[in-house]
Amino acid sequence: MLGRFHVSTLLVLALMSPFATALSLSGPLTQGGLISGEVAPGSQVAFAGKSVRVNAVGKFVIGVGRDAELSQSLQVILPNGEKQTHAFTLSKREYDIQKVNGISKKIMSPSESDLKRIREEAALVKKARSEDSARQDVFDGFVWPLDGPISGVYGSQRVYNGKPGRPHFGLDIAAPTGTPVHAPADGVVTLAHDDMFYSGGTLIVDHGFGVFSTFIHMSKVIAKPGQEIKRGEIIGEVGATGRATGPHLDWRINWFDERLDPQLLLPAR
Ligand SMILES: [Zn+2]
Repeated sequence: MLGRFHVSTLLVLALMSPFATALSLSGPLTQGGLISGEVAPGSQVAFAGKSVRVNAVGKFVIGVGRDAELSQSLQVILPNGEKQTHAFTLSKREYDIQKVNGISKKIMSPSESDLKRIREEAALVKKARSEDSARQDVFDGFVWPLDGPISGVYGSQRVYNGKPGRPHFGLDIAAPTGTPVHAPADGVVTLAHDDMFYSGGTLIVDHGFGVFSTFIHMSKVIAKPGQEIKRGEIIGEVGATGRATGPHLDWRINWFDERLDPQLLLPAR
């Protein structure tokens, strides 16, 4: 029941202008992917209506969501002022969709005070994933935060009597409560919360250029707000806090508001 995709596939697409090498994109060029790109240093890049940070050697990243259109384009302004539009195509993902008939989804109706808390926590999370920082951690790649069976994949969804539920956006790795969670990449902590309504023990890490990791349901949040963390460092412990059915790490990746698939960033294991 796990979605199958090629985590190690590296697609390199070189799009040549008649005048200069303007842009190269490296994979994964697929829905849910964090796409790396390179332009001539000093170029400006825009994607999906926003300007994209480019580093000193011309590298940048963009993210495309679960159900992103397959036809996409990037705008580049070269250092000489020449404006270019580059089209590229994403491959379509097959998500794990389960049809559940005959029973209805258990409705949980939060109280008024719960709703207030939910809204406040959502605002904290949004703020913690908003900064376009110049950190370069995102270019150094990601590693698995712990060992354990994959118990939930990105994009999966249950359809209850024909009504689609909210898709699952995390990579779930099952492990006993208390199992250490290691930072998958360097970064700085932008949110550490012991007990959020839905997500329980929650940690958000900024890897730079709009790329953030979010770790939820942890029994213990070890890293502190503002702390610089290194890849491999223990940042928390697996748990089942918040609304979780059993102990697991739920790891999410964002490019700003766009929810991406962490598994596409990881080496096969
Ligand atoms: Zn999950």
